[in-house]
Amino acid sequence: MADINDILGNERVKEHFIAAVHHKKISHAYIIEGDKGSGKKMLAAAFSKILQCETRQKTEEERACNQCESCIQMENKDHPDVIWVSHEKAGVISVGEIREQVVNTVDIMPYKGPYKIYIIDEAEKMNVAAQNAILKTIEEPPEYAIIFLLTTNRGAFLDTILSRCILLETKPVSGKMIERYLGERYKIPEEEAEFAAGFSLGNIGKAESIILSEEFRELKDLTLDILRYIHEIESYEIADKVKEYKKYKARIDDFFDIFLMWFRDILLLKADTSPNKDIARRKIIFKNEYVSLRKQADKLKMDSIDYIINRINRARIRIKSNVNFDATLELLIVEARREF
Ligand SMILES: [Zn+2]
Repeated sequence: MADINDILGNERVKEHFIAAVHHKKISHAYIIEGDKGSGKKMLAAAFSKILQCETRQKTEEERACNQCESCIQMENKDHPDVIWVSHEKAGVISVGEIREQVVNTVDIMPYKGPYKIYIIDEAEKMNVAAQNAILKTIEEPPEYAIIFLLTTNRGAFLDTILSRCILLETKPVSGKMIERYLGERYKIPEEEAEFAAGFSLGNIGKAESIILSEEFRELKDLTLDILRYIHEIESYEIADKVKEYKKYKARIDDFFDIFLMWFRDILLLKADTSPNKDIARRKIIFKNEYVSLRKQADKLKMDSIDYIINRINRARIRIKSNVNFDATLELLIVEARREF
């Protein structure tokens, strides 16, 4: 787990936490709002590590020592006084789960640390009953309790919760920064780091998952195989290709992202009016595919590119609402082919 000073970007959130430690003004409840993968969990964990660090409590340093038992337990995600609230159903955090894991345990003193910290990820999934249950704890917390609500959407919280929490926002990190970080951390070639940084649109969690996932690599190869020849792909080939996506169902968002980025690259090339048409070439994400992209950009009309991008977004929504998987993918490929 990263140390707070090693976390990329999000300077304001880091400064807030470091100042809170310095001035000994720790709040009992924080909301950290930001996109998936923008570092919310990492920030909450890094702050918790500092707060619980045994060495720091003696030296009053503003950072964790990374050597004491507490720091090691944080590293292993098994610190007894840092509770990651879990939930069973994907779409909801129930009142029972909040009672069992938070409300009914918060009055028990911490085992060892000075604090008892609850981290609730995807906290927007707490239904109203669950929010009302945790509200009491947020209103009258024991001295040692700290609650983190991590969320992509603060709008889902009751006003009474919002008014009692410190609100912090995570922001996507710049592409160049991610690129440098990935290159240094994973010792990967520059172009691979550049691709992951561009593709993740500043989302560090996503960039790392792209680099580390063999599945993503396979999915990307499979999808690029279609995209390079999409203007001349035969109908029987489409059905065969789509079948291959079955095992990547869990990552199907990546398929749509790849598709979308491809046509965004085409849009960039098409819209480039610079004399040598080389401004867009530096901006596209699939740099290695320039020749294919250029060829398709020459063939497609602007309206057609818009239309295809629109269809990609529509297909993504349809898959989420459980419309037939194969049929949706096939239709998308057919719709794109038709525009050439
Ligand atoms: Zn420590």
